Order: sequence, then structure tokens, then C-alpha cells
Amino acid sequence: MKKVSPLQFTPIGGGREIGANSYLIELEGHRILLDCGIHPKKEGPQALPDFSLLREAPEAVLISHAHVDHCGAVPELLRRFRETVPYSTPATLGVMDCMLHNSVSVMGTIARERNVPGYPLYTHEDVEYAVESSVAVGLDEEFSVCGNGDLVGRLRHAGHVLGSASILLRADGHTLFYTGDICDTDQELMAGLDPLDEAERVDTLIIESTYGANLDADQSRYQEQADRFCRRIGEVLTRGGSVLVPAFALGRTQEMLNIIARYQDNGELPPVPVYASGLGRAVYEVYNRYPDYLHPEAELRPLSRFGRVGDVWNRDNVQDLLSEPAIIVATSGMMVENTPSALIAEEMVQGPHHGLFFVGYVDPETLGYRVLHAKKGMVLHFGPSRPAVKVTLENIAHFHFSAHAPRSALHEQINRLNPRNVIFVHGDPEAIDWMYDQTGNGRRKFCSPLGETIELD
Ligand SMILES: [Zn+2]
Ligand SMILES: [Zn+2]
Repeated sequence: MKKVSPLQFTPIGGGREIGANSYLIELEGHRILLDCGIHPKKEGPQALPDFSLLREAPEAVLISHAHVDHCGAVPELLRRFRETVPYSTPATLGVMDCMLHNSVSVMGTIARERNVPGYPLYTHEDVEYAVESSVAVGLDEEFSVCGNGDLVGRLRHAGHVLGSASILLRADGHTLFYTGDICDTDQELMAGLDPLDEAERVDTLIIESTYGANLDADQSRYQEQADRFCRRIGEVLTRGGSVLVPAFALGRTQEMLNIIARYQDNGELPPVPVYASGLGRAVYEVYNRYPDYLHPEAELRPLSRFGRVGDVWNRDNVQDLLSEPAIIVATSGMMVENTPSALIAEEMVQGPHHGLFFVGYVDPETLGYRVLHAKKGMVLHFGPSRPAVKVTLENIAHFHFSAHAPRSALHEQINRLNPRNVIFVHGDPEAIDWMYDQTGNGRRKFCSPLGETIELD
């Protein structure tokens, strides 16, 4: 009989939501964290995972990718536990460096403007320490997680954003696979995930559930979206307007810039200037440094091809930017107040000839959602300290470019890996519930709320 070691799983963040994703694994006497993010919709210390649930220092934190809901709390974790060692791919560590320094700056600005208690949660020095103490491991390289060889780790290409990886953790009596965020199909720059080899026996699978509540039919294919998107851009430019594309700094920005550039190179879009904003550009440079992590046929355009959005806090600059037809890809994707996309949109919605095209998930509680659903003649506020503006723009649309696997592909993963235990994480409650209800074949299935430990054998 094969020896089975029990594994304990406790979400210290995330669990039944897309929050401060962080999962404590206790196995063979070792304590490991999978991811350590900050909650995208909370502020101050409430945005952190609940570190009080960690009675001792975890030996390691394995980071699936550099979106802040997966890595944003690593500097705070290392402030509390200096000895914990972060591991990830070199590309993820490169992007994480940009993302976390940016988080410090953003938290500093918010603290000055609104005096949020506890902000900034950590400093630039804390970020430096976190990045310097991290160990870079290449995809498919086996590494000893705790030094003594009891736990062996391996990172597998996850297809989501640059450097993203699923995490395989193997102990003598238990093999665990954590998908992180996964995409099974090709995007413009990223190739779809590499499935785990058939021979690998997985006892426990921890799987993301982002699209558990979405019908697959809602998501037409990536390249069809790209066609529709560029056609609509072309129509706006022909009318003499400009197009704003609010986009997440990591992943969506680099994808959209390269889609636009490809259509321009093929003569299907006019060669107007294309601009990108600061953090998206910084991450773009990391994409440039790690071509091996991109789709083998991806043709990454040089960053110098894209202009810099510049200081959008000055209204004159925004008006200049919009004076000639142009395409502007700017953070943030959901148009958080005071970000470049929000400040440009504030000006843009007052001009009927422009186009404003969302390309990712837009949470109903965000400014982006209000703008997306704004009707001509409505009055909108782009921030507590901003004047009210009247919307004259009608050309506001939403395109669905996804970096997450649809729910049918999530189920394919489960059936292929054939694990004894499945834990659903990283989804809204209805998404998690759908995944849970549809999973059968005698598997034991779990979705554990924050702080609740489950024991698996
Ligand atoms: Zn992600
Ligand atoms: Zn995520």
C-alpha cells in the first residue's frame, strides 16, 4: 500500500472569493504558503491575508504569478517572518518587482489624499528585501522547497500572464497541484498552459474557479474578439476620434498593444500614434527580458514603438493627447479613481467622436462599471475631488479578452489529473458552487472559507 501523508489546507486569504489569495499547506511537518496577495477591493490592513492564522513562520511562499491578488502581501509577510523564502519564476520575480514598488507609491498617494489607516502597508525597502530574498526557479525545474529534500517543487507554465505557473508540490506520501490562474488557450503573446504529464499522480488539486459561473458560450474566441475590437477602433479613428483602452498593467496591456500593432502592420488599422501608461510600460520591459516565456511565435514589438502617456493629472496634457486621432492603452483596467484611464476618460466622455473600449473584467463596484453603463446626457463623477461631467460619448463598449480558462476547461483539468481531493478557490461564491456541484466521480471536494482548516489524506 502506498503511504499517504495527511495534508492540512487553510485559506488565510481568498478561499471563497477572489481576494487576498493565500493558502497555508501543512505537510510532513512543513509549513508552506501558496501565494500571498492583497485584496483588490479592500484598503488598509483589511486588504492583507489574516496573518494571525500563522502561528509560526512558513518556511516558504510559492508564488504563482505577479498579479497583486497573488503576490501583493509578500513584503508584509517577510516583514513579519524574515526567514520565509519566496520562490517563483525569474519572469514573475521581475514583474513582481515593478508591481510591488508601484503598490508602495499608490498606497503612499492614497495615504496623503485620504489618510487611510495603515497605508502604505510596506515600504520600498520592504519590497527590495522581498525581491532580494526570493529564489528564482525555471519552469519544469525540480527544486527542494525546504532545503532537506522532503518537499520537492516544480513550476509548470500556466498560460495566464508572463511568468505565470501552476505549482506541483511532492512529498513522500502526498502530491499536491495548485493551478494558480490558468488559461488553456493561446493569447496574443502567451501560449496556453502546459498540462501536467499524464504519469504524475495528483492526490490533491487546488483549482481556480474564476469563470465557474459563466457559460462558456459567453466567451467567443480570442482572435474573433481582436478582429471586432480593431474594426471598432478603425471606425473611431476614421471619424477623427481617439480610442481609450483601460487595461490591467500586467498581461492585458502588453497583449492589447501587440494586437493593435499587428493590425497596424497588416494595414488593417491606420498608423496613428499608440500610447501606453507608466506601469504597463515598466512591465512591458520585463516581457522584453523574458522572450522564452512567451508563445514561440509571438512577435513582441519594441516598447519604443509606443508613446508614453505622460502626466495625465494636468488637464492640458490630456487635451493635447486627445487632439489628434490616437489609441491609448492606460491603467487601470477597471478605471480606479485617479489612475490614468480614469483621468483620460473624464475628458473623453465629453467628446462624442471618441471611443472607450473596455477589454477585461469590470467589477460592478468600480468607476469603470459606471462609465461602461453610462448613457448620453448622464452626469458622472470621476472621483470625490473631481467636478461632475456630462456624458456626450455614446461609443462605449466591452470586449471579452480572457486570460482565464472557461469552466469546461477547468473541468477537463480535474478529469485529466483525476485527483482524490479537489479544493475550489479563487472565484465568487456562485462560481465556486457551480464548480463544486458539477464535480463528481467519487472525488472528495472542498471549498473552505477563510481560516477553516481541512485535513486531507
Ligand atoms: Zn491573475
Ligand atoms: Zn487571480
